[in-house]
Amino acid sequence: MKYITSIILLLWFPTAALAVQPAKHYASDNIIEPFNYEGIRLLPGRWQQQYEDVKEFYLSLDPNSILHPFRMRAHGRAPGKSLGGAYGGSALGFGQWLAGMSRIAKVTNDDALKERTLYLMNEFGKTIEDDGFYGTRSRERAPGHYGYDKIIGGLVDVYEYLGEPKALEYLDKITTWAEKNLDRSNEYALPREWYTLAENLYRAYELTGEQRYYDFAKVWDYTHFWGALAEKRDVFGEVHRAESHKSYHAYSTINSLASAGQAYRSTGEQRYFDTIVNAYDWMKETQMFATGGYGPEESLIVPNGMPEVLMGIRRGEANVDVRFHFETSCGSWAGFKIGKYLMRFTGAAKYGDWMERLMYNGVGAMPPMNDYGMIMYGSCYNTWGARKFHSTVWFCCQGSFLQTVNDYHDLIYFKDSKNIYVNLFVPSEVDWDSPDGKITLRQETKFPESNRMTYTVKAAQSSRFGLKFRVPLWSKKGMTFDVNGEPVKVNAKPGEWAEIKREWKDKDIITAKVDLHIWAEPAPAALSPVAAMYGPVVMVMANARDEEELMPHEGGISFPGDWISYHKNISMDPGRQLHSNNQLRPFYEMQTGEFYRMYHERFGKKFIPWDQFEFEGDWESNSEGRVSGKKGARYTAKFKGSTVVLNGFRHMDSGIAEVYIDGKKVGDADQFGYDNVHVGRMDQRQVPFRWWVEDLGVGEHALEVVVSGKKNANAGGRKFNVNGITVYP
Ligand SMILES: [Zn+2]
Repeated sequence: MKYITSIILLLWFPTAALAVQPAKHYASDNIIEPFNYEGIRLLPGRWQQQYEDVKEFYLSLDPNSILHPFRMRAHGRAPGKSLGGAYGGSALGFGQWLAGMSRIAKVTNDDALKERTLYLMNEFGKTIEDDGFYGTRSRERAPGHYGYDKIIGGLVDVYEYLGEPKALEYLDKITTWAEKNLDRSNEYALPREWYTLAENLYRAYELTGEQRYYDFAKVWDYTHFWGALAEKRDVFGEVHRAESHKSYHAYSTINSLASAGQAYRSTGEQRYFDTIVNAYDWMKETQMFATGGYGPEESLIVPNGMPEVLMGIRRGEANVDVRFHFETSCGSWAGFKIGKYLMRFTGAAKYGDWMERLMYNGVGAMPPMNDYGMIMYGSCYNTWGARKFHSTVWFCCQGSFLQTVNDYHDLIYFKDSKNIYVNLFVPSEVDWDSPDGKITLRQETKFPESNRMTYTVKAAQSSRFGLKFRVPLWSKKGMTFDVNGEPVKVNAKPGEWAEIKREWKDKDIITAKVDLHIWAEPAPAALSPVAAMYGPVVMVMANARDEEELMPHEGGISFPGDWISYHKNISMDPGRQLHSNNQLRPFYEMQTGEFYRMYHERFGKKFIPWDQFEFEGDWESNSEGRVSGKKGARYTAKFKGSTVVLNGFRHMDSGIAEVYIDGKKVGDADQFGYDNVHVGRMDQRQVPFRWWVEDLGVGEHALEVVVSGKKNANAGGRKFNVNGITVYP
C-alpha cells in the first residue's frame, strides 16, 4: 500500500516528492555523509578531463545500438546494429551504464541526459517478459546472479537519483523472476559472484521500505568470508578448508564488502560493521599494492605472497609473469564504495587514504578509452617492467569506468550537520547547507603537483561551522593553514581531521599546505620490493629498461625537486646517479605503451646462503635448504648490516623458532603459511618465508635461530626451515 501511495505522490510532485523526508528504512546512522552527487562540481584539471572524456564517449553511443541485444531477444528484430564485441556490446554492462548515467545526470542536472537515461531504461523495460524474464539471451541462458546484480544496480540508481518510479516497476518484475530462478545454494566462492547481490537489494529496501528486498538481500549473506573477517579468523584458512576452491576472485570478493557495508546500514548488526572495518586492515596488511590496487590475475593472494606476484611467479621464469595486478576500473569502484561506507560509519579520516590512492593510481591513472571502447582492463606492476595496454571490449570494466570517474564527485567532500569535511584535494566547488544557511566552498589546487590548496568561502550570510581537512597519513609533518593571510594554529595529525571552527564570512580564503615528499612503501608483508611514492602518488621509473638494478630506498632518495619537469638526474643513493634518461614520473602520466618500472628491489641487498651457517642438532637437507623438527636444534650466522631477513619457505606444517641477535632474544618467527595454492598463472604452492629485524645499527652481528618446538593453532607441525638470510646496510 505504501508502495502505491509513494508512486502516486511521485507522479503528482515529481521533484517535490523526493524532498519529503522519507520514512527511515535503515538501522545504522551515518556519522558523516557524502554529498550523494548533489551540489558538487569538478573544476578544470586532469581528473575533470578524464571524467568528461568518459562521459562524452558513452553519450556518443547510439541508443538503438545499446538496446539492440535486448530488443533482438524480445522481438526478434531491432533498429540499428549492436555495438559488437563478444557480449553484444551492452549486454554485460547495461545496468552499470544506467547507473552511471543517472548519477551523472544527478551531478550535472542535465535534462537531456536524464531523458536519455529514462528512454534507455523504459525501452529495456519493454523487453521484460510478463514473468519477469529479461536479458539478451534465451531462457536456457538466462541472466544469473551477475547479470541481475548489474541491472538492479542501474534500476535502483535511476530511482534514487532521477526519482523515476518506473524503475521500481521493472525492479519488481525482474526480482520476481530472480526470486524464483536464482540458485540459492551459495556454494563457496563460486564464480557466480552471488555474494555481491545484497548491496543493491538492501538499497532498494532503504529507498522503498519494502520488506521483500530486505528478505531477498539476506539470502546473499556471505557468511564464510564476512564472518572470518568479522571474527578476525584467517580468511585463507576458510578457503583452504573449502573443497573445490583455492582462492578468492578479487574484485567480486572485495566488492562483496560493499554489501556488508549496506547490510550494516540496513540491519544495524555489529558483525557487518566489524567485517568491513577488519577487512580494511586485512587488505592493507596483506593485499594492497602502493596504488591501492589488489588482486593480481583477479585473485586474492595468500598472506605473505605479494612480492612473488611482482616478480617471476616461478622464480626465474619471466615468461610466467602475471598478466596484470589490478582490475583497475571495477577494483577502484569497489574501493571507492567501501571507503565511503567506512567513512560514513566511523567518521574516521584515515579511510580517505585508500580512496586517494585509487584516485591517483587506480582509475585516475587509466589512459583514455580508444574509439572502439577498449580500455586498460588491468594495471601491471611487474618488477621487471610493464606497460599500460588496452584490452577487452564491452566488459565489466567499461561499465564501471563510467561509474568510477563520476564517483570523484562523491569522494571529495563529506558533511554532518555542523561541519564540512575536505577529504580529497581536487579542484572543485561544493554547495552546502551550513547551520546558518547555504554556503559554497571552492577548492583550487594543482595538487599533487603542488603542496598547496586554496579554499574560498562564498556565502550571503556569515556562518559558524567547522571546516575539517583530512590530514593524509603520508603527510608526516601534518598540515599548515592560513586564514585570510594569517597563520592559524591547528592540530593536524596524520590520519585525522584538522579542524578550523569559526564564524565564516563571504570571501574568506583559507590556504592549506601538506607535506609532500618522496617516500618508499614496500609490498605488503615484505621489506622489498618497494614503490617510490610522492605523497599519495606512485612514481614509476620511466625508460629504465637498460639500467642495472637501482633501488629507491627511503634514506637514499633525495628530494626530486621539480619532478614534474622530470628532466633531472635523481640521486637514488649517495655516490650513484641514475642514467640521465631515467626519471621518476607519476604513474598516472604514463601513456599506453610506455615502459616503466613501479616496484624496485631495496638498495644494498646481500644474500647469505644456508651453507655458510653453523648448524647444531638434527637438520636435514632438502631442495628448499635445511629443515629441522627437533626442539633445540639451532643455526648461527654472522652478518654485517643493520637489517636482517630470515629466508625460507612457509608451509602448513611449519612451526616457530626463537631468534636471537648478539645474544639477545628479538622475537619468535612463525613459519606457518598456506601452501599448495595454485590459481591460473599464480603458482603460490611455495610461498617464501621472510621475517626480519631492522635498526640493528651498523657493524657485525651474530644471529642465532633455535627451533622452539612450538606452533600456532592452525599449523599441522613444528618444523622450521632455512634457506639463507638477506642483509641490508
Ligand atoms: Zn571489471
